[in-house]
Amino acid sequence: MSRYAKVIVDISHEKVDRAFTYAIPADLRKQIAEGVKVRIPFGRADKEITGYVIELTDEAAFDPSRIKDISQVEGKAIAPDERMITLAAWIRRNYGGTMAGALKTVLPVKKKISHLTRRIIVLTSDRAKAVEYMSLCERKKYRARARLLGALLKEPVIPYEVVTGKLNITKPVISALEKGGLIAVEEKDELRNPVDANGKAHERPELNPEQKKVCDGIIEDFDEGRTGTYLIHGVTGSGKTEVYIELIAHAAAMGRPSIMLIPEIALTYQTVMRFYGRFGNRVSFLHSRMSEGEKYDQYLRARDGEIDVIIGPRSALFTPFKELGFIIIDEEHEGAYRSESVPKYDARGVALKLAELAGASVVLGSATPSVESYNAAVGGQFRLFNLPHRVSGNPLPRSVVVDMRNELKEGNRSIISTALKEAIEARLERHEQVMLFINRRGMAGFVSCRSCGYVVKCPHCDVSMKEHRGGRLICHYCGHEAPYVNVCPECGSASIRGFKGGTQMAEDIVGRMFPSADILRMDADTTKRKDSHEKILSAFANFEADILIGTQMIVKGHDFPNVTLVGVLAADISLYSPDYRAGERTFQLLAQAAGRAGRGNVEGEVIIQTYSPDNYSIVAAAKQDYEAFYKEEIAFRKAMGYPPAAHLESLLITGKDENAVIRAADALKGFFADHESDALRVMGPSRPPVSKINDTYRRMLYLKARSRGSLADLKDAAETFIKNAPEFKSIQVQFEIS
Ligand code: ADP
Ligand code: ZN
Ligand code: ZN
Repeated sequence: MSRYAKVIVDISHEKVDRAFTYAIPADLRKQIAEGVKVRIPFGRADKEITGYVIELTDEAAFDPSRIKDISQVEGKAIAPDERMITLAAWIRRNYGGTMAGALKTVLPVKKKISHLTRRIIVLTSDRAKAVEYMSLCERKKYRARARLLGALLKEPVIPYEVVTGKLNITKPVISALEKGGLIAVEEKDELRNPVDANGKAHERPELNPEQKKVCDGIIEDFDEGRTGTYLIHGVTGSGKTEVYIELIAHAAAMGRPSIMLIPEIALTYQTVMRFYGRFGNRVSFLHSRMSEGEKYDQYLRARDGEIDVIIGPRSALFTPFKELGFIIIDEEHEGAYRSESVPKYDARGVALKLAELAGASVVLGSATPSVESYNAAVGGQFRLFNLPHRVSGNPLPRSVVVDMRNELKEGNRSIISTALKEAIEARLERHEQVMLFINRRGMAGFVSCRSCGYVVKCPHCDVSMKEHRGGRLICHYCGHEAPYVNVCPECGSASIRGFKGGTQMAEDIVGRMFPSADILRMDADTTKRKDSHEKILSAFANFEADILIGTQMIVKGHDFPNVTLVGVLAADISLYSPDYRAGERTFQLLAQAAGRAGRGNVEGEVIIQTYSPDNYSIVAAAKQDYEAFYKEEIAFRKAMGYPPAAHLESLLITGKDENAVIRAADALKGFFADHESDALRVMGPSRPPVSKINDTYRRMLYLKARSRGSLADLKDAAETFIKNAPEFKSIQVQFEIS
């Protein structure tokens, strides 16, 4: 039982580091915990005010006789801000880190933006004139002008930032159209209602019977005051987003706002406009390029009841709505929902807790649900809905698996199989588009000496350097660059060179194979600049290229109705990542890549090239058979004791001195060994595949247990151990529970 509590008196991101120490009277000890609301004497006059406990400690920060007592514990927290404190305490307990860190995650940074005017772009000319000018622009290849006019013809009022952001239209283009009298830029405090120029409400499609069944099921619970967690397993194009919109609108009509999480990369222009079209100025978007001031403005609007739904990445969860209705998580299987920095929280877990605190319901949606969520649905904790058909009625694409070992036997050493080559030729002839997906970037895998085997490594990281076009060597972990080596530094041989592989090489080969085709490439190298990602995708959507080659980025977001062929060049690569989720990730990537083909009127085709054609992830993905994949995968997880069959806690131990890191890892292992039992296994310490990044050494330790709670308890105990053990002086430990 701790004797002191650190208390903050103002719930704000800025005040988290200014905590005051109070003593905990014996009779209150049982009730005091992190996140609890208390009354404390404050200031010289000892005026009683409200505060929140953010940390328990046994150390008095100063002379114990001068520390005041907490007066009393206050009743249940209810206000949204207070809910965030409870949520922060829960995040800290489940995902590690400090309470101050957790609070900073959930509380907004208070920053005013100087003056807030929302600019909008309005179509001012009549439609006939706009249509005429648009076709003129198309003929003259003024693509940006045509794009903006096309968008305005569908939606006569568009927020300025959507035009310059998601639509990628530059200022000169806007000015040109403005001068031509076609459009106007107006300043408005608020956007207009979603009513078009003719005064008709924005049209909404009638839900089909499958969608209706999902909506009705969820809304019935909502209307009767039952909360729940729902998983919508629906193929791409099955109308999930339309269901979300319906649910949000229903809750909003009852005065209950919603939060919708969507991976940033999947928040396309079409999606943004669908929500504007339905909710007008009552929808708000959060994204990573917003300034703190703009973000804070969204929080204020939410708090003041000005919006019905906020759409954004995982941080949108912390929007302080009063009567939260739904938390919707689209593409719930996405890795982006796990935070990369401490606290390493999982937005799905946090959403479930938040829903419990706020009396809201959670709706998860995916074409390829995570094994954890599907398992919960099968086990009855979540209610499962299926949307197995595309709204358009178009069939799912045909899939062909090509065994690359046979290609080799038949003398084809190219990375493009004969079947794929013929399929691409046919598409080029018919003026249809092709996407080629390769799960790796860079011109070459790594640079090595053919004589002595020396591999060029990054001096700061435990990884090989990658050769890029122009001959530079780049470390993909820390960005370190070095000039190319022509002579082996070990043995002096000149036969040192790069192994080919990756998107750049694929671009070269495909370019030589189809000299008349226009090719676009999208990978981490071509998307470094802001908006370049969106630019490449819209160029492809505008048919400025026949073939798009890229990494997994190309399989997300955007509809390309002209794409009728998707080729996966090396389906195996993600199978060999040293992680129990490798099979799941492979299935998801392949199924999603396949979902890109044939979204228009022509049936799509998917060609999956692989060296392991019998692997269950690949077989199931080719058949678009999620259930078959799930059955195999859950059997594997059960046999191995991996989540969700058991729970796994991974500890990453890092420091600048390798020996100190090893000593600390051993000390932790010793600590956990005392708790080892049938219900808890300790593994490691081990060197992770990358054991040094940016001159920081890394070791891993794993705990496997049947219950999540016992892992959280152990984490708390380990954190206390770390605080007191001398081995951890300049060592960092990060926890992750899954
Ligand atoms: P998902 O989110 O599952 O990929 P969407 O909701 O985006 O699916 O729907 C796919 C396409 O079908 C979209 O263009 C959408 O506007 C359209 N759509 C969805 N539901 C209907 C419906 N009931 N009637 C007509 N069109 C619909
Ligand atoms: Zn050598
Ligand atoms: Zn490096």
